[in-house]
Amino acid sequence: MSFEENIRKVVPYTPGEQPQRKVIKLNTNECPYAPSPKVFNALEKFDASFLRKYPDPACTGLVNAIADYYGRDPEEVFVGVGSDDVLSMCFLTFFAGKKPVIFPNITYSFYEVWADVYRIPYKTIPLKENFDLDENDYFIENGGVVIANPNAPTGVAEPLEKIEKIVKENQDSIVIVDEAYIDFGGETALPLIDKYENIIITRTMSKSRAMAGMRIGYAFGPKKLIKYLNDVKFSVNSYTMNMPALIAGEEAVLDKEYFEEIRDKVVATRERSKTELKRLGFSFRDSMTNFIFAKHEKASAKMIFEKLKENDIYVRYFNKPVINEYLRISIGTDEEMDELFKVLEKILAEI
Ligand code: PMP
Repeated sequence: MSFEENIRKVVPYTPGEQPQRKVIKLNTNECPYAPSPKVFNALEKFDASFLRKYPDPACTGLVNAIADYYGRDPEEVFVGVGSDDVLSMCFLTFFAGKKPVIFPNITYSFYEVWADVYRIPYKTIPLKENFDLDENDYFIENGGVVIANPNAPTGVAEPLEKIEKIVKENQDSIVIVDEAYIDFGGETALPLIDKYENIIITRTMSKSRAMAGMRIGYAFGPKKLIKYLNDVKFSVNSYTMNMPALIAGEEAVLDKEYFEEIRDKVVATRERSKTELKRLGFSFRDSMTNFIFAKHEKASAKMIFEKLKENDIYVRYFNKPVINEYLRISIGTDEEMDELFKVLEKILAEI
């Protein structure tokens, strides 16, 4: 007998590296631009003496701002410490049954970690060889469904009709649609919350709103599901979001103009990067996100990953079956991408 058997053991999620010196960082899909000037302003004015008190557990200001911006009722909005926290709460709340939760084999690798840590049975469903999802594969008995759309790390956006079919065919389960990258392309499933009772949509301010460091995520869903989520949240930690995050999040949502400006810049750089990467011999599915998941015609992904790192350029490499010949390259500024293309050209000339 030992305490070991009483311990909840898990294989944790591995986040992308956060080197503490200045490098060209294209490995965690952050935004290369600063958050809205309104966020800077609000944080400058923030009176630290407020920190004496607990923050608003209902996150009223932020919830109302998000609801307002997207034309929803505040009771249809949930917020959390990044969409990782929101998704984790969703797994804990909605997947308490015995049947396996299903999601694609190639998707955000945190899904299986949450399933493991909460002891939720799950089953992965292979994507097609070209990384497309076949909706018919999801018409099976399950305890829940999770779909990232656009998907990560593939960058592929599935049409809304496919997502709707999955929601419609699974009305005895909750379907989570993870829209972390939706601001960069693809069709949102948001209108489906008026039509179905079993859908939750999660979003983040980490990518298109340039606030990965602040940790703000949110979800939309029918009021009943949002109430269930809040009941679980208030049973784990009432005060998930701190005061500066609540203020910064509200300001970021309100600054539509700045949001659109930086999002458009990232999308323009992404489109230019597609041309450059093709010229260098890479192939990839048409990305609708702020990254490109690319494979080189001759050079191994691992080799390119390592050589780029030697040159202080960080991209993401997943040493996993099916995708171990791919690199996930986040979209940086135009200057950062130009440096990447220059270094890639040099590396590829040497093979
Ligand atoms: N979903 C997907 C598909 C992601 O790629 C990420 C980023 N790692 C997240 C959710 C979580 O993002 P965050 O916690 O920063 O909101």
